Amino acid sequence: EQQKLKRLKQTKAVTLDGTAIELHANIEIPEDVAQSKAAGATGVGLYRTEFLFMNRRDWPTEEEQFLAYRQVAEAMKGMPVTIRTLDIGADKQIDPESARTCANPALSLRAIRLCLAEPQLFHAQLRAILRASHYGKVKILIPMLCNQGELRQTMHLIDRAKQSLRDEKIPFDELVPVGGMIEIPAAAIAADVFARKLDFLSIGTNDLIQYTLAIDRTDDTVAHLYQPLHPAVLQLIERTIKAAHKAGKPVSVCGEMAGDARLTRMLLGFGLRQFSMHPANILAVKRQVLQTSLPKLSLMVRKILSSPDSEKIEPLLNKLNA
Ligand code: PEP
Ligand code: MG
Repeated sequence: EQQKLKRLKQTKAVTLDGTAIELHANIEIPEDVAQSKAAGATGVGLYRTEFLFMNRRDWPTEEEQFLAYRQVAEAMKGMPVTIRTLDIGADKQIDPESARTCANPALSLRAIRLCLAEPQLFHAQLRAILRASHYGKVKILIPMLCNQGELRQTMHLIDRAKQSLRDEKIPFDELVPVGGMIEIPAAAIAADVFARKLDFLSIGTNDLIQYTLAIDRTDDTVAHLYQPLHPAVLQLIERTIKAAHKAGKPVSVCGEMAGDARLTRMLLGFGLRQFSMHPANILAVKRQVLQTSLPKLSLMVRKILSSPDSEKIEPLLNKLNA
């Protein structure tokens, strides 16, 4: 089975009707690039930079970050590398000792909220990412956007980081794309506005499920209620994809759902053309892509999207995959 899958490594991910699908890798450290390339990933769709910041006492310097980001940008040899700015807090604590000192860490000062509260920390990371953009096809991805004010502030800080590099005559890609994670229900509902203002969107289903269903993704006592197939979750995903298409912007899914081959056809039916996942899942998802005819999906996908009950969605999904 594994051997059969391995043979697909060089095969292009194209549906039976000839639509090309991008299958990108999620990585956490530069060393993950090797596994991504071995799996045939055509880009890094999510570089979770927080691992550079975890399990240590100090912040990594701009230079240390730059070296890590440049290593990935160069290793991917012109393929896109989507670097997500710091997403620390909640399930990703820097210091496990200080974890859960507030009542609701997932609703607290995390990700972009933390970066906007710590502009010097953010400035150093933005400069490091921008500097790396000179060495490959780098994109910037902002986690946990919720409102337009955060986006405005972020764009302002990116402009400031760019200006500081120009002043020092340090090269970077002036046209580096800036995208946003859609992982808060409010952002999914307002996806049209985010799609117009950003260069691309990436749907973080792990957090989108958590926040839509009010289920702590780290809490075992409610793990059985963490339902990727809840109709509300599916509707938010589909709506975000449609909003991006309408604005003419690329959109991907980079949460765990993107790496679940059982969900590949459904997501293709929602209009998704770009997936980012753990490298270990790429070949299984590619096999699904290769065996799928997009025009044949529409009837069943419409049934799935109009179903009010995740238990009724399971059999529909089985039919879709049959
Ligand atoms: C997500 O929330 O789906 C996501 C991709 O980000 P993370 O799992 O790092 O929060
Ligand atoms: Mg997330």
